[in-house]
This record gives sequence, structure tokens and C-alpha cells, in this order.
Amino acid sequence: MPNASLVIANWKMNGNKALAKEMVTSLRDNHEQFQAVNVVVCPPFTLISDLTRECYYDDIAVGAQTVSEHESGAYTGEVSTSQLKEAGVSYVLVGHSERRQLFAESDEQINQKVKATLSANLKAVLCVGENKSQRDAGETWDVVSQQVKNALQGIAPESTGKIIVAYEPVWAIGTGETATPEQAQEVHEKLRALVVELFGEIGNKLPLLYGGSVKPDNAKELFSQKDIDGGLIGGASLKTDDFLSICQAAQG
Ligand code: PGA
Repeated sequence: MPNASLVIANWKMNGNKALAKEMVTSLRDNHEQFQAVNVVVCPPFTLISDLTRECYYDDIAVGAQTVSEHESGAYTGEVSTSQLKEAGVSYVLVGHSERRQLFAESDEQINQKVKATLSANLKAVLCVGENKSQRDAGETWDVVSQQVKNALQGIAPESTGKIIVAYEPVWAIGTGETATPEQAQEVHEKLRALVVELFGEIGNKLPLLYGGSVKPDNAKELFSQKDIDGGLIGGASLKTDDFLSICQAAQG
């Protein structure tokens, strides 16, 4: 039975005010069907205030898709942790594979962004995952473990409660090709061991999400895996009914 605790919507550069309203209304109206699940919606920056205004359940929160590693200053186009906080954001996606690939975010920069996020008392959702050729070459765990170690370097165990790790195989993002529950669980089991190695026993409580073509029809099986605590949902989070079904699947 699924017993997933966290489902996060990543709208990427999609959505508008109408979708924000429709999504919040639907989540609020159906809230009792996924009461045990924390739901986070990460819209584009411009829609954050539309969502925060309406999300008054504690367990429906608003996240940002990225953040600047700098506190303030001459960084045209960037948004800081304090600005996000003021807008009512409580989660930040850090190191999404699209940020790594399309915007050349380095491991070092991702580490700085994680640190900035945690020191602002926001929750950091660290995204990691291998691409197709790395998987085919048998390098999946080398790539994923190195990304985690680099991103979490210098983070004190006291911050563990504010960290979430999302395993998102790049070949499964937006492709319709999902990792099988077994493939996902295999990586998640190793991730669990790694975060315990890095942070001690408290690592057992760190939520580990799976992302990559999660849909209503595969969510339940993925969320039933022992070390999968929830999902990071792209395409299916833009359809109110699909996202709702995925939240329900998390509750079981
Ligand atoms: P997808 O995206 O669900 O559309 O594959 C997931 C993500 O990029 O976070």
C-alpha cells in the first residue's frame, strides 16, 4: 500500500492564473482525500502570489523552481531566498536536470543554492538523476551518488529536516518512459543508505521522491515501493484531475 508523504508539482514554464485558480480550488475541495499527504505546487515565479493567497491549508504549500545562491544585488533576472520567503514560498527545487543542462548549473552552484535555501529556513528539494547514456554505461549510481555528495557538502545534520531528495532519471523526464518501480526502488534504497551515511539515523526520515513521467496509472505502484516517499510531478501536474489522482494515490 502506498504511504507517500509528499507530492510536488513542477509546472516548469507552463500555467497561468486560470490554472492556478483551478488547481487550488480542486486541491482544497478534495483535500480530505489526501489529508495525510503534503502537497506542494511550484509554479513560475509570476504565479506564486496567486497560489499563496489561496493555499490556506498547512499541508498545501507553494514552492519555487529555482533560487539565486546570492542574497541580493546586481543579478539581473534572479530571485533571492528572502524574496521567495516574503512571497510565501516554503519549498525550493534545486538542481533540476533542466537547470543543470539548459542553464549550466554546476554542482558547486547547486551546493551554494542548497545552502542559501536552508539558511533562509526554506525546504530544499535537491534533484538528481542520470541520463540515458550514463544508465546504459552502468554509471547510474556513480552519477547519482556524486551529485548528492557534491550538493550536500558542508551541510550540517541539523538541517536534515529541511532537505528532500528527488531522484529523477533524465531519460524519464517528460518522455513518457518511466523507470520501473524496481529500477526506481533500486536507486532509492541506495539513496537511503547514502543519506544515513551522510547525516546519521535522521537520514531515515529524509523524504526521497521519485520523478519522471509519473502519471495517475503508475503512481500507486511507484509510491508503494519501500523507499519512495512521494513524487515530483511535471507534465501530469498541469492537469487538475491527473494531479489530484496522483495525490490520492500517494495516500493509498
Ligand atoms: P515529468 O517531469 O513528470 O513531466 O516527467 C518531472 C520533472 O521534471 O520534475
